Amino acid sequence: MRAKLIYCSWLNVNGMALFPFILIKRRQDFFNEQLLRHEEIHIQQQLELLILPFYILYFIHYMVNLFIYFNHDKAYRNIVFEKEAYQNDKDSMYLSNRKAWSFIKFF
Ligand SMILES: [Zn+2]
Repeated sequence: MRAKLIYCSWLNVNGMALFPFILIKRRQDFFNEQLLRHEEIHIQQQLELLILPFYILYFIHYMVNLFIYFNHDKAYRNIVFEKEAYQNDKDSMYLSNRKAWSFIKFF
């Protein structure tokens, strides 16, 4: 499925997946395949976790990582959902070939 794109100039990040929407900060990124794929991976993760548990797990994992690394960027980049998304957002076939619950491999 393709999530509906919403332009949000006030975002403090380039994109954000908020099922069933993808919020995009800059209009030119409506054509940024890598960014859109990254956010679509998060949409799939959210669906697999029935939406709300995704956000809870995402937040808990971020806090645990922050405790480990004492660094926002490292804590964010090491969230299991981000690891899957960043490692595969350049692969145009990833979403077609991705198996459900693939984020588990990134723990
Ligand atoms: Zn992400």
